[in-house]
Amino acid sequence: MKAYLDNAATAVSYPLASFAHKDGFIGNPSSLHPVGLGARHALDDAKDILCAAFGGKRYNYIFTSGATESANLAIKGAARGLVERNITRNEIIVSQIEHPAVYETVFSLKELGFKPIVAPVNSLGFIGPDTVASLITEKTAMICVMAVNNETGVIQPIGDIFSFAKAANPKIITVCDTVQAICKGFEIPLAVTDIFFGSGHKFGGINGAGFLYLSETVFLKPLFHGGGQQSGLRCGTENPFAVSCMAYAVQEELNSNHCDKVRILGSILLDTLHAKGINTNAEKTDYIYSIHFDGIDSGKAFTFLSSKDVCVSRGSACSSSDAKQSRILTAMGLTPKVISETLRVSLSPFTDKAEILLFCDCMETLIKKAD
Ligand code: PLP
Repeated sequence: MKAYLDNAATAVSYPLASFAHKDGFIGNPSSLHPVGLGARHALDDAKDILCAAFGGKRYNYIFTSGATESANLAIKGAARGLVERNITRNEIIVSQIEHPAVYETVFSLKELGFKPIVAPVNSLGFIGPDTVASLITEKTAMICVMAVNNETGVIQPIGDIFSFAKAANPKIITVCDTVQAICKGFEIPLAVTDIFFGSGHKFGGINGAGFLYLSETVFLKPLFHGGGQQSGLRCGTENPFAVSCMAYAVQEELNSNHCDKVRILGSILLDTLHAKGINTNAEKTDYIYSIHFDGIDSGKAFTFLSSKDVCVSRGSACSSSDAKQSRILTAMGLTPKVISETLRVSLSPFTDKAEILLFCDCMETLIKKAD
């Protein structure tokens, strides 16, 4: 691969050799013999790293297979917990730009009697705290707003939004998808956030491990029944290797200047493109860019770039094989033409300047051909 610029889909991982010397990757963490205990220690060590990075205690964290599972477990589990306790609040505010892992999960709860209330986004891809506040009623049970959007990179004001919610009713469950924010210089406002989650493969770990943070106040009905692992909240044998890779990436991030490095890489991208075409000028992460190339069909650009071994995406990875237009860019009011000429470029601390320049060069070729 000559240029991998699709790190929001799956980021380049740390070399597997970084993890290989560690013990505790074989055995079942529930076994009581030394091999099992080694696996248990690997999980505990990983929890300690998450606590140091994001706050909370070991018991606040649950390991999952990734963010989709975390979102389903958290949102469906908390909703079922409300039903079980006969709580009649049944409105769930969900931002218009949530990833399907959250958005579709919220809508699936209609079958349990919940009512999704969609919080609109403005033309910059930003969810205004006042807009969300105006949707809160005595029926609000939960609010789901992501920290950083996966298509535009726009940073959402979740501290303000969740503070409004807690001031209106401290029992409202605040849920934040932090997938594109974890290890990217974002501070989670823990005092007002009940639930947040991440996927290891988005920040230098490997596919197959994620985590879910739950505050003590959330009563969760589990989705899986089985051997009672993780206090019965997520039954099934944990994956110590993938979990340790995820924790390793978090630990590395704590000791790094990755954000500065990615900021510089982002400036190189913007300078080379003469800062043209970025679909928003809201405050955003340096890791993700939604770029409109006027007159260049993104499907054709994608094919051309792939033929040159340059990997980007046309939207989020999970929708890139889907002919439908991006729900997020549509919500921002971008025209179908602009959306069909937009590419997402996403960086990581391992991105090389040469990769960015190759991408820009390929786009320059396409622009010249189109003229
Ligand atoms: N939330 C956001 C913001 C994402 O970008 C993604 C993946 O792209 C997910 C959730 C789902 O993550 P996973 O596919 O690792 O379960």
